[in-house]
Amino acid sequence: RTVYLNGEYLPEAEAKVSVFDRGFVMGDAVYEVTSVLGGKILEFEGHMNRLARSMAELEMTCDLTRDEWVEIHRQLIARNNIDEGLIYLQVSRGNAGDRDFHYPPEGTPPTVVLYTQAKQNLANDPKAKTGIKVISLPDLRWHRRDIKTVQLLYPSMAKMAAEAQGKHDAWFVEDGFVTEGSSNNVYIVKDGKIITRQLSHDILHGITRASLLKYAAEAQMEIEERPFTIEEAQSADEAFFTSASAFVMPVVEIDNAAIGDGTPGRVAARLREIYLDESLKSAI
Ligand code: PMP
Repeated sequence: RTVYLNGEYLPEAEAKVSVFDRGFVMGDAVYEVTSVLGGKILEFEGHMNRLARSMAELEMTCDLTRDEWVEIHRQLIARNNIDEGLIYLQVSRGNAGDRDFHYPPEGTPPTVVLYTQAKQNLANDPKAKTGIKVISLPDLRWHRRDIKTVQLLYPSMAKMAAEAQGKHDAWFVEDGFVTEGSSNNVYIVKDGKIITRQLSHDILHGITRASLLKYAAEAQMEIEERPFTIEEAQSADEAFFTSASAFVMPVVEIDNAAIGDGTPGRVAARLREIYLDESLKSAI
């Protein structure tokens, strides 16, 4: 695989980052994951805008222009012959030459890494037909979940805990209400209405979420942005989640309770179709 590191395209084995890099030592880095379908990048503007916002919130800078970001994405797609897959992008605050809590001096270049992950069946994921099962866990993450940092230890622990119980993923709960999934935004459907938690520092502002709510509104579907509990989700007609890599994914069980009749719901299936159609139209 050819990867991108600080201006160079390199074989992955030759792409090396310092042991003093703050991404490595402090988790001081932000990231994005973008889908590629038919060799085209989905939701490019959305992901770039959120990257800029994450960096601004952390006073991180990177002087790549939009056109340069596009070029890197396109080069990696071409050099790795990606038809369907993901592009992982990470920017860390760089390497100040030694471990130090303080940010490195102004002008220290960030470390920019991008690589592709080829995937089959991203659009035709068999899990979209069967739905997935989740457990709930307390949300033990920090309180700026709107910033997309690489501090993913708790989400990793949550996915391992779900798997240990034979389930696929976890939904996080704080103060009695669901925040989001371990790596996705979550929704329930009741009497045709789509319910999802409103944006705040408590959740990541999903790029898929923003587009999906826009498409749902255009299709005259009713949307309510408010928190809900696990109990309300368990008695909903449908549940699903969204993310850049899973698009719209039905959830058929929460903490061993079947949602609806225990099979993927019609609203989720329709939204997945609409989302794939519409996001492909604006793919670049
Ligand atoms: N919440 C969390 C915690 C995530 O990690 C992700 C995936 N990046 C999402 C929500 C979904 O965001 P997006 O639709 O932009 O992938």
